[in-house]
Amino acid sequence: AIVYLNGEFIPADKAKVSVYDRGYLLGDGVYEVIPVYAGNAFLLDRHLQRLQNSLDGVRIENPFSDAQWTDIINDLIARNNAGDQSLYLQVTRGVAPRDHIFPIGVAPSVFMMSNPLHPVAESWKTDGIKAITTADIRWMRCDIKATTLLANSLMKQLAQDAGAQEALLLRDNYLTEGSASNAYVVIDGVIFTAPKDEKVLPGITRDLIIELAAQNDMPLHERAVSESAMRNANEIWISSSTKEVVPVTLLDGEIVGTGKPGQVWQQMNVLFQRYKQEVS
Ligand code: PLP
Repeated sequence: AIVYLNGEFIPADKAKVSVYDRGYLLGDGVYEVIPVYAGNAFLLDRHLQRLQNSLDGVRIENPFSDAQWTDIINDLIARNNAGDQSLYLQVTRGVAPRDHIFPIGVAPSVFMMSNPLHPVAESWKTDGIKAITTADIRWMRCDIKATTLLANSLMKQLAQDAGAQEALLLRDNYLTEGSASNAYVVIDGVIFTAPKDEKVLPGITRDLIIELAAQNDMPLHERAVSESAMRNANEIWISSSTKEVVPVTLLDGEIVGTGKPGQVWQQMNVLFQRYKQEVS
């Protein structure tokens, strides 16, 4: 694979970064994951806007304009033979002697790679996935898409250890999101998802789901759901750029709703797939 590193397109095994990079030493960076369908970066403008918000949140200056980002991203996609890809980009604060204080006059490091996009297994959509619940142990700036993913990784590993595919996170008895996804609960035909604040990542897929729901008269409220309401829900879903919209049919070993992907999910999945076809 060809990757982009600080101005160069090079084979992945030739790409080297300094051990003094603050991304490596401090997890001091932000990132994006952008799905690429048939060579087109999906909802790219929205990802670039969120990148800007993340950079602002950690006070790293954006090294590129949106037009420059778009050129580099499209170039990298082409160099990796277009098709369906998962494009990862990260910006760290750069290379400097280790210190918590920000270095002055240091250029951010920019890295990008684009790997084949592996859609979720068909069974995830026909049968749904298993999820566990766990305490949300993250910091209070979950709205920043930071490379500092140790808490997310610990929580996702708990799911893996339990034979589940995702961990749903509880903060003060309310569902925030998944370890690598936004979360939705359907109660009596009404969709709920936690509001955008410092406790959740503002998912690009989440925004699209909210828009699709509004355009199709599907009731949706941006309101956090309590643990007990979640446990009695008719449906639970998760969403992310690479997984799209996925139903959860087993939660902590208990059947969700009928135990099959729900009707509201079916409807949203059709709308989502149709939208994807139209724009890519
Ligand atoms: N929440 C978390 C913690 C994530 O890591 C992700 C993405 O992987 C999401 C939500 C979903 O965001 P998006 O739809 O932009 O991929």
